[in-house]
Amino acid sequence: MIWNISKECMTPEEKRHLQGERLRKLVERVYHSVPFYRQKMQEMDIMPRDIRTIDDIVKLPFTTKQDLRDNYPYGLFAVPLSEIVRLHASSGTTGKPTTVGYTRYDLSVWSEMTARCLTAYGADRNDIFSVGYGYGLFTGGLGMHYGVEHLGATVIPMSSGNTSKHIQLVHDFGATALACTPSYALYIAETLEKTGIPRDEFKLRIGIFGAEPWTENMRKEIEAKLGIDAYNIYGLSEVMGPGVSYECQYKDGSHIGEDHFYPEIISPDTLEQLPYGQEGELVFTTLTKEGMPLLRYRTKDLCALDPTPCPCGRTSVRMSRIMGRSDDMLIIRGVNVFPSQVESVILEMEEFEPHYLLIVDRVNNLDNLEVQVEVKDGFYSDEINKMIELKKKIAGRLHSVLGLHADIKLVEPYTIERSQGKAQRVIDKRKLN
Ligand code: ADP
Ligand code: ZN
Repeated sequence: MIWNISKECMTPEEKRHLQGERLRKLVERVYHSVPFYRQKMQEMDIMPRDIRTIDDIVKLPFTTKQDLRDNYPYGLFAVPLSEIVRLHASSGTTGKPTTVGYTRYDLSVWSEMTARCLTAYGADRNDIFSVGYGYGLFTGGLGMHYGVEHLGATVIPMSSGNTSKHIQLVHDFGATALACTPSYALYIAETLEKTGIPRDEFKLRIGIFGAEPWTENMRKEIEAKLGIDAYNIYGLSEVMGPGVSYECQYKDGSHIGEDHFYPEIISPDTLEQLPYGQEGELVFTTLTKEGMPLLRYRTKDLCALDPTPCPCGRTSVRMSRIMGRSDDMLIIRGVNVFPSQVESVILEMEEFEPHYLLIVDRVNNLDNLEVQVEVKDGFYSDEINKMIELKKKIAGRLHSVLGLHADIKLVEPYTIERSQGKAQRVIDKRKLN
């Protein structure tokens, strides 16, 4: 099923036309109502009349997270505060928080986009969703919540935390769908095993996971443990929240809601637009946003775009999985390392639990990577030789994937702290010096 055929299945001409129209209006709007953009455009000698088609987007300035911080809290709003009906803010883990504001129209677009996602996952009004994303300033909880209601399905607003209660209600209320971060899904699966409630007493069939990078292997693991069909959902608060892109039943990239969010891939070094298929930094222009529209927002997320038509019938461009954020990328002894690469290796090996931690340090001026990973119950042994063999095995695989030696620390099951929101998988002690 497709929620909005007229928007999700446009011909290339229809799409270009709609995007061009919307971009023109957007640029008019921000030029006249956001001093930050007017000034930037004046500096670049660009006037709204210079933007005629969607291809002219390359003439426009970029926006960065720093710009949001510099204009904290309301500086980038394009409407008076009386028009804003909701505020969210980013976690601010990497500095001052950033604010986003939504008008009534923005919220209606958000609900529609999330309903499109849920429909693509095969859900309908008969489903019961347990939303385990955090409710609050984080966009995950409320974003999914209103999407479920818009779809006409039933929502259980669980939020994150209190995992045993969550499992109890999923069981008692007969929830058919679970939405949360992939790392929390694993934690729920683990806790569920411990409750001893037989799996066939649960009605769960769909999982909606996002808000942090995860791998194909992680998907298999979650699907097997929870007995569900797991789908990816992507989004970021600056652009909207969850629902910017979503997988369909083919799970071959995530369809972008291109009638509202225009995607580009750029080289983070030259800032030039890259052709389809090439990996680079994802950039979004919010074509219809009223509250806080953004021109060419640099997400720092690294991925590639695929414009080929999908067998599901949707014609929207699909984005690959996020490899990592350009600011999550570790440079260890000059080698680029993404936590997702380590995750793939760990999950390919039957001896390990999908829980790991990377600790980077600088010893005698040399970077050192330690990978802590949990050994599965049946594979943990008191025999030192066995453990040494296992260490060698994973170190060898990691070396061939990363091109780098890592110290391995094997730990017992359940020793690495579990996450109920976005998992913290890297401790970079070098930054503390
Ligand atoms: P913050 O983490 O700054 O508080 P957000 O909650 O808006 O803000 O986080 C958005 C970021 O989360 C994205 O830019 C991306 O890096 C990551 N993210 C969201 N969904 C996914 C996904 N499905 N796969 C990978 N990364 C994701
Ligand atoms: Zn598709």
